Amino acid sequence: MSDKFLHTVLLIEDDPGDVLLLQEMLEQEGCKAHLVTVARLSEGISYLQQNHCDIIFLDMNLPDSSGLPTVTRLLEAVPTTPIIVLTGLSDGSFGIEAVKLGAQDYLLKGDIGGRMLKRAMFYAVERKKLEVALKETRDFFEREARIDYLTGIYNRLMFNELLEAERQRARRYATTDLSIIMFDLDHFKKINDTCGHIIGDHVLKEVAHLVSDNIRAHDIFARWGGEEFMVLTPKSVQSQAAVLAQKLRSLCAAHDFGNGLHVTASFGVTQYKSEDTLESFTARTDEALYLAKENGRNRVESL
Ligand code: GH3
Ligand code: MG
Ligand code: MG
Ligand code: MG
Repeated sequence: MSDKFLHTVLLIEDDPGDVLLLQEMLEQEGCKAHLVTVARLSEGISYLQQNHCDIIFLDMNLPDSSGLPTVTRLLEAVPTTPIIVLTGLSDGSFGIEAVKLGAQDYLLKGDIGGRMLKRAMFYAVERKKLEVALKETRDFFEREARIDYLTGIYNRLMFNELLEAERQRARRYATTDLSIIMFDLDHFKKINDTCGHIIGDHVLKEVAHLVSDNIRAHDIFARWGGEEFMVLTPKSVQSQAAVLAQKLRSLCAAHDFGNGLHVTASFGVTQYKSEDTLESFTARTDEALYLAKENGRNRVESL
């Protein structure tokens, strides 16, 4: 079994006898990796903050940490480095618990052979790679599922989920202080046609920035589709949402999108009614927006 996958091995162990034993075993097996040894968990963490390491052997009883918290602390510091725990013969059950917490494997001191050690290292590294790749994939898809790829704000799916949660909250507390602002860029097709899609995309991103910077932290902002956006404002009645819509409208109209390019948007505002479904609530906002378009664009209409 080749050990080319290993460059640096960190051993966090306070017992000089155990250090020597592991060192000899690795040498006997022809392991060429650089072995770094520290006696305290804090030293190990400091080392790892500044150096890359391929695998860690961790004694669970150290002068500054003992038992399972030792594993937890190390995992917090280096979540992507494989850890093999070393336990005494009498406390092997700790090893299983350590693996449950996220260590890759455990070895019983006094019962380790050279070959076993190399196998454990090889599998620990391979398993950790898989674990990290799986987590990255999961994080990626979780993000993809709720974030609009172009603007980085929520997408329609996420908006609907959050809107439903807010609607449930309003129902539970028998309130209707929940409003939606829907806006659509005016004559956006013309911008694409005259300036090109890249500039069009830039405008969409810039609008997303502009609005994100000018709403409250608990307002929910999403791209509804193409050049249409939604702002859900919890704890706001229609008139308050309309004030915000006017503010966003004038910010957008006054903004220079580059080389003197100006873009306006039309806004529809509506407040939640106790009999509203998710569909009727959003459909009414859409109607208000339609009115704003009909009445000349670059304006706010409420329904
Ligand atoms: P109105 O004032 O009536 O809203 O006119 P409009 O031209 O904005 O409306 P229309 O619905 O005809 O056109 C919307 C345009 O938005 C057409 C489409 O090409 C463009 N669009 C939609 N999504 C994107 C995108 O992701 N990037 C770019 N650059 N353009 C987009
Ligand atoms: Mg010890
Ligand atoms: Mg438009
Ligand atoms: Mg549109």
